Amino acid sequence: MTEPSIRLQVGGKTDVGRLREVNQDSILLGPHLHAIADGMGGHRGGEVASAVAVEAVSRILEGTRHLTLDDLLRAVREANKAVFRQGMQDESLSGMGTTLVGLAVVEDASGPLIAIINVGDSRAYRFSHGELRQITDDHSLVGQLVRDGAITPEEAEVHPQRNIVTRALGMDEDIPVDDFEILPHSGDRYLLCSDGLTNEVPESEIASVLRRVGDPDDAADELVRLANESGGRDNVTVVVVDVIDDAGLARKASALVPDAEDFSHHPDTDTESYAEATGATSESARRRDAGQGPDGTEGVATEKLSWRERRAERRRNKPRAITLRSVLFVLVVAAVIGGGLFLVDAYATDTYHVTVDGDQVMIMKGRPGGFLWYEPSPVLATGIDADDVPDALIDNLEEGVTQSSLERALRYVQNLEDRIEAITPPVTTTAPRGTTTTTRPRSTTSTTRN
Ligand code: MG
Repeated sequence: MTEPSIRLQVGGKTDVGRLREVNQDSILLGPHLHAIADGMGGHRGGEVASAVAVEAVSRILEGTRHLTLDDLLRAVREANKAVFRQGMQDESLSGMGTTLVGLAVVEDASGPLIAIINVGDSRAYRFSHGELRQITDDHSLVGQLVRDGAITPEEAEVHPQRNIVTRALGMDEDIPVDDFEILPHSGDRYLLCSDGLTNEVPESEIASVLRRVGDPDDAADELVRLANESGGRDNVTVVVVDVIDDAGLARKASALVPDAEDFSHHPDTDTESYAEATGATSESARRRDAGQGPDGTEGVATEKLSWRERRAERRRNKPRAITLRSVLFVLVVAAVIGGGLFLVDAYATDTYHVTVDGDQVMIMKGRPGGFLWYEPSPVLATGIDADDVPDALIDNLEEGVTQSSLERALRYVQNLEDRIEAITPPVTTTAPRGTTTTTRPRSTTSTTRN
């Protein structure tokens, strides 16, 4: 069996930058997965976390012959567990975490696809037809605020809390992993990078390098050089992946896009034929056989009957086509269903709540306890120990205190911290507005970068 295969050309570079002493980023240019990881936490933790993640994921994928998206996601989840366990076992590594963004070719029923996986605020971009587009969502506090429309991307760039990562490997025993599957196109270029690049170099300049420099290794070198030239305040890691040959898959896929003609020959989509096949038609046929009119009266308006018959006959003989009415009907039904789902989705997810999860206070997105099939998802571990919460508040918090926006949830947490500090001598050090870093060994979560 000869399968279509796509060919990639990959280049990458990681650099300590100009201010840091240690490079906490890791890079993987493996046989399956090309990835970067940006570690954080402790003076040694970040370095270890990113290295453990990258090693674990490449070890798990080793020997895989036909990689699927499921294999890839499983490997990332296992790598997360590896980072989490090590952080739990070694006191000096407690609280460590790492981002991971990766690209692999996966096998799908329809052929090979480009898969991107992401946890954290490192990024994947696609550079296609001269245009640079971010594929991944930043799992950061400001990323969430931008998605909620609370701040603009420009405000995010200078936001005082822009370093707070809301999702990272090692943060919890299980973490959600974002994935994207993209049809390969020859000539497309993918960029994976840590925030050491995007915090220093504007996207327009990144795009210009990707446009100008042909070789992926040279492009990665040039991007790292620019980051350092602009200050190099953080470690910087860049991977550039070129799709050299898409094995004709892009062309094949566009040929498969169905046109109106294809649909018109498909009986399942013709709503009128569906109506005809239902009771209405068989009932009218029964009445006709019994010599009745459509209203059931005897002695019939035969003219009416034959008119109906003629119309039915005309329809039977006419090749079925999409009529305006059937299109409108489908559109209206789709709009009603879509509108309903939109409202349900908005109700279930356009809200936040503060609650107790395990032994600490968390900010969650969604309704307390979930709604229909929507489960709340963790946004930020506040670092506040549930045991420190005043008795008067703990019941409410355990049920979940709903807040209409992330900003309000953060304000609630800030007030909670103030109350706790007023009652007890301070055992925690408060980070700027809203989150707390603590010295407790299990604070695996407030992944504020130093
Ligand atoms: Mg970084």
